Amino acid sequence: MPLLTMKFGGTSVSDMERMRAAASKIKREVDRGYNVIAVISAMGDTTNNLVGLVEGTSSLFDAREYDAVISTGESLASALMALVLQDLDVPARSWQGWQVPVRTTSAHGTARITGIETKGLQAKFAEGMKVAVAAGFQGVSPEGRIATLGRGGSDTSAVAFATAFNCERCDIYTDVDGVYTADPRLVANARKLEKISYEEMLELASLGAKVLQTRSVELAMRYKVRLCVRSSFNDNSGTLVCDEEDIMEQNIVSGIAQSLDEAKISILSVEDRPGVAEAVFGSLADSGVNVDMIIQTISERKLTDMTFTCPVSQVERAVNALRTARERGSVGFRDLSADTDVCKVSVVGIGMRSHTGVATKMFGALAKKDINIKAISTSEIKISVLVDRIHMERAVRALHDEFDLETAT
Ligand code: ADP
Ligand code: ASP
Ligand code: MG
Repeated sequence: MPLLTMKFGGTSVSDMERMRAAASKIKREVDRGYNVIAVISAMGDTTNNLVGLVEGTSSLFDAREYDAVISTGESLASALMALVLQDLDVPARSWQGWQVPVRTTSAHGTARITGIETKGLQAKFAEGMKVAVAAGFQGVSPEGRIATLGRGGSDTSAVAFATAFNCERCDIYTDVDGVYTADPRLVANARKLEKISYEEMLELASLGAKVLQTRSVELAMRYKVRLCVRSSFNDNSGTLVCDEEDIMEQNIVSGIAQSLDEAKISILSVEDRPGVAEAVFGSLADSGVNVDMIIQTISERKLTDMTFTCPVSQVERAVNALRTARERGSVGFRDLSADTDVCKVSVVGIGMRSHTGVATKMFGALAKKDINIKAISTSEIKISVLVDRIHMERAVRALHDEFDLETAT
């Protein structure tokens, strides 16, 4: 029997009516002759609510119990989905992560999948079961504890199942009908892409386009999974995430992403000598701070200013690390400031490898709107700028217009 993975996100199963609509999409594939691994997310806002409950217990909660609590959203949704499928006369049963088992590392809250056992599900398929409903987002650590994969992790569960079972396709059903040139909730004239390369999708995801979890794209790219993003609410053709070579024509810039999870920290009047950057960023790395953009201004009188960005949740850790380093004498600086009222806006496109002028065009579009750039970082296929948070929507829309993303070449 050919095998498909079909993943349904939280909004797609937020109530019983949507659950039934999702189940009928699954049934349709069964009727076409497929066996299906259905990966289900927690219903609606369940995970946020569960996180709230855990955070209400203590600020220093046990990460293992956090995972035990927040994984229940997927346990519930997957068992309900099995019941709804059975009601449609589709032979189905549910599996929680530990039952499959989906093996993970012990990094609770951000665990990685290390392997998926296929025997149990295969045996059931051989007995005539048509749909294995797997709880997304969860697995079991080497210590036998429940572990979760980070927010949005059901996407990664789905791609991992598709890989382990060598599925023909991995369909990600969500509340938009594909990957767009920008978040369609922000940009009304964003255009749905028929195809996008793994590399571009990986950049967009890691730069804030939450339509797919970054790790799911990494996995799909590594194992060449045919990954399709499509709507739970209609039958429009979705977006295929595929190899660059499979895309015939493309704009220079493919998409725009924005992220609010970016904070700017500056240390002023840092002594300018060899080894100072190592001391600053070494102390941040030792404290587990993920630094993204870095700027060092031209030094005057042996003093310089350094600015960097990190996730908002790590600001306190970063500030403590730098103050401690100063007390210990490993880093000298006069002042420190942290700004969380910023955001990062990025343009992504494989065409940047062979075309120049994208940065100039980007900076020009922002200048025309009188939006000041606070930091810049680039890679082969993306340019990111840090701007004040209040300008985020205007910046994204201005760039979308400037690169004419509404129209395909
Ligand atoms: P799910 O619950 O199905 O996993 P998510 O909320 O995680 O859904 O992801 C879907 C959302 O991603 C959309 O509602 C949309 O607002 C957002 N999104 C951000 N950038 C994009 C983009 N470029 N294309 C499509 N959707 C995007
Ligand atoms: N329910 C989890 C979350 O909200 C996982 C997911 O939906 O992908 O992050
Ligand atoms: Mg998601």
